[in-house]
Amino acid sequence: MAQGIDRGRTGLPGGKPKYSIFSLARNAASYHQDWQRAWRAPEPKKEYDAIIIGGGGHGLATAYYLASVHGMTNIAVVEKGWLGGGNTGRNTTIIRSNYMWDESAAIYDHALKLWEGLTQDLNFNLMFSQRGVLTIAHSWGELREMSRRVHAIRLNGIDSDVLTPEEIKEKVPLINIDQSIRYPVMGGFLQKRGGTARHDAVAWGYARAADDLGVDIIQNCEVTGMIRNGGAIAGVETTRGTIKAKKVGVVVAGHCSVLGEMADIRLPIASRPLQALVSEPIKPELDTVIMSNAVHMYISQSDKGEMVLGAGVDKYNSYAQRGSFPVPEHMIAAAVELFPILSRLRMLRHWGGIVDTCPDASPIISKTDVKGLYFNCGWGTGGFKATPGSGHVFADLIANDRPNNIAAPYALDRFQTGLLIDEHGAAGVAH
Ligand SMILES: Cc1cc2nc3c(=O)[nH]c(=O)nc-3n(C[C@H](O)[C@H](O)[C@H](O)COP(=O)(O)OP(=O)(O)OC[C@H]3O[C@@H](n4cnc5c(N)ncnc54)[C@H](O)[C@@H]3O)c2cc1C
Repeated sequence: MAQGIDRGRTGLPGGKPKYSIFSLARNAASYHQDWQRAWRAPEPKKEYDAIIIGGGGHGLATAYYLASVHGMTNIAVVEKGWLGGGNTGRNTTIIRSNYMWDESAAIYDHALKLWEGLTQDLNFNLMFSQRGVLTIAHSWGELREMSRRVHAIRLNGIDSDVLTPEEIKEKVPLINIDQSIRYPVMGGFLQKRGGTARHDAVAWGYARAADDLGVDIIQNCEVTGMIRNGGAIAGVETTRGTIKAKKVGVVVAGHCSVLGEMADIRLPIASRPLQALVSEPIKPELDTVIMSNAVHMYISQSDKGEMVLGAGVDKYNSYAQRGSFPVPEHMIAAAVELFPILSRLRMLRHWGGIVDTCPDASPIISKTDVKGLYFNCGWGTGGFKATPGSGHVFADLIANDRPNNIAAPYALDRFQTGLLIDEHGAAGVAH
């Protein structure tokens, strides 16, 4: 477990009964009728010290760390739908920290260190599995670029190993390394500490632990406007009435431009559909996550046995939470060449989410010109992996009204200074 990170008051300090093998056995005896609600359903108060807009993983993590690390417990998370109903519950759950630039290494590895121990911190089984993430290359050019990236990643103290096609075949027997296919496997690099987690559990775990510390989690409550007092934020208008607060954090992923507009802030964000699908479940066959940036395909096997496949981003802006057919069609055609057994599987579900993409493929964690109003967005196709780190540094920004060293490079002013963090190469899906 990571040293030197203030992980907060861990293990449900507020008084909720702990989840354990003993509580499971006790509740089995009463036919599971006596479980306590995981979180309350409070009416919104008239005023809070801080409001977090967006009940996805990032918003709930922010609220949890505000309460557990910074002692701010008079706060609310306001969610227009249900917890995790946005991208948190729609993603393919890949976690890794093998990004190229120092700024990215700092935030994504901060997150990975928090993941390693989060189940214990939250007393909630997140099914965090460090099964390794293997990124494959399909051309000499890609392979050379990959080697350069591996050196940069290692210089930041992050694990990364180059694998030959034969080593890949040994690790992933299902893969086809025949060099005559359209996307031949020329090599790859592996982050052994990478892996997956159960996405819903992340939202539920943070929600339960935040509620335990007194955070009000208010679902079915859409923010429809921002209230300003001169140059400062004073609260929000919602479908359940006006709620006042001198600090408001906006963490709404694909809808951040909509919320920005409410505060007269124009964000450099394009919101686009990203699609994924799962097959019918089969017996355990794949114990590593495989990514191909050239194909825009990533695949893993869920604990239920489904093959989870992610596709590339659609090239048009949308809020419709669905994408076009050619994108998954292209991905499946290449995936079947790489993993021939996929041709025998039936597709079970297919869905889309709206991701918030920044011009430099890096997020925004920032104060704004409106005092007390903060934005955390732009995580695009890859923000699930950052959930704990993002919440941790965003809570710090909101509590102290200044970014810490990890968050500082992600301020909005980088689009004026030109100090961009170009991570297009490391984003699993180009955008
Ligand atoms: C198909 C797909 C696959 C992906 N795969 C991966 C992956 O493998 N690994 C990875 O790291 N990332 C992945 N991502 C990206 C990842 O899912 C997101 O970056 C991350 O989940 C964003 O979390 P969030 O909490 O910011 O957003 P969300 O979970 O979307 O939460 C934002 C919440 O804000 C709410 N909201 C919006 N407007 C309002 C309003 N006006 N008032 C109140 N509430 C509002 C929404 O209802 C939503 O619940 C994927 C995304 C998709 C769509």
